[in-house]
Amino acid sequence: MFQKILIANRGEIALRVLRACKELGIQTVVVHSTADADAMHVRLADESVCIGPPPSRDSYLNIHQIVAACEITGADAVHPGYGFLSENAKFADILAAHNITFIGPSGDHIRIMGDKIEAKRTAKRLGIPVVPGSDGAVTDQKEARRIAAEIGYPVIIKASAGGGGRGMKVALTEADLEIALQTASTEAGAAFGDDAVYIEKYLEKPRHIEVQVFGDGFGRGVHFGERDCSLQRRHQKVWEEAPSPALNAEERARIGGICAKAIADLGYSGAGTIEFLYENGEFYFIEMNTRLQVEHPVTEAITGIDLVHEQIRVASGGGLSVKQEDIKFNGHAIECRINAEDPRTFTPSPGTITHFHTPGGLGIRVDSGVYSGYKIPPYYDSLIGKLIVHGRNRVECMMRLRRALDEFVVDGIKTTLPLFRDLVGNADIANGDYDIHWLEKYLAKEE
Ligand code: ADP
Repeated sequence: MFQKILIANRGEIALRVLRACKELGIQTVVVHSTADADAMHVRLADESVCIGPPPSRDSYLNIHQIVAACEITGADAVHPGYGFLSENAKFADILAAHNITFIGPSGDHIRIMGDKIEAKRTAKRLGIPVVPGSDGAVTDQKEARRIAAEIGYPVIIKASAGGGGRGMKVALTEADLEIALQTASTEAGAAFGDDAVYIEKYLEKPRHIEVQVFGDGFGRGVHFGERDCSLQRRHQKVWEEAPSPALNAEERARIGGICAKAIADLGYSGAGTIEFLYENGEFYFIEMNTRLQVEHPVTEAITGIDLVHEQIRVASGGGLSVKQEDIKFNGHAIECRINAEDPRTFTPSPGTITHFHTPGGLGIRVDSGVYSGYKIPPYYDSLIGKLIVHGRNRVECMMRLRRALDEFVVDGIKTTLPLFRDLVGNADIANGDYDIHWLEKYLAKEE
């Protein structure tokens, strides 16, 4: 087991990882920018190293500084959290070259999944159902027209190097295709330095359903069920739940089994998430994330398994603490992402939190790095905490969520809490009847 883990992140996830390390008796080092000197994870860590000024590229994305911090403190492993360097293959390779363990998959697996065309090709080869579309990059109009006619309109043009919901264009008919292909490719080149794009069928009313998987490092794969993250705004997840209100046990076991086998065949090690669009009873792979997800706590709630403990165990060569047959699903969990944003316009609302009170009681978990008197810096994303609620079934979970949202107090800044108070009382949400466009339509109506 590791002696000392360096946490290369900030905010709630840095604290989340720190807690797991403490439970496992592992020493912790955190790195932070000058803007985060007063952050909770810095206060609670055994050691901290300031690695630079506020901009992420000079601090949380500065590989040299982070490697130097490992060497100074003698950390033998790095947990990257999510975002920042968590899906940076070069970072994983550099750590390996310094004999420091990257708590995540190999650089090669990160590279495959970071390239969407390669990822889709790999998924298909492993027997994962994919969205019908081009086999690889599409460059000329004629080929694009042929493929689009074959799969049928509407189609979506996506950047191979895309991420964060950027670099996608929909063509409803052939008349839109030429311009969609051109703009997607130009935008991809400008945003990602790679203009390769591909075509796939545009699904009109899908749900976003993702499967949590793990490779144990010895060639075995398991799944921890699915999460439904269909409630999104601008492709950003807002509310996540497990299990999906749309799946039955048979569908869950089938897609989970396919994913677990794929992970084993790939020889993948550590945590991963295989993301699908789901429509009319069919799953369509869209991408795989090779890291821990923001929404992992809903899976922890229904399985009772600490996924960060598992990541650390696997990275240290100790394998998983559970086999597939030990992973049981119990009840229902919902996560609300609480952002420091105006709940109507979603403009960021940094500043000082004058009062912070979190709900408690059975089935309630709050993962947050903030506290009363904490000043939210304007440099990073606006997630200030996550409320995760567990109940024996979805109805109990919703009742408890409503109560917990009423208790939650964040004063001094604007937050998205009022949005969740509205959502929890909505009939479609109560019925679990929503797709990936539901929230945007709802917000447009509210304006
Ligand atoms: P990113 O890595 O940028 O998040 P994804 O491939 O995960 O890109 O897609 C992000 C979102 O874009 C999906 O959650 C979905 O809302 C939409 N999307 C992607 N592909 C399709 C498709 N074939 N049909 C309909 N919507 C899609």
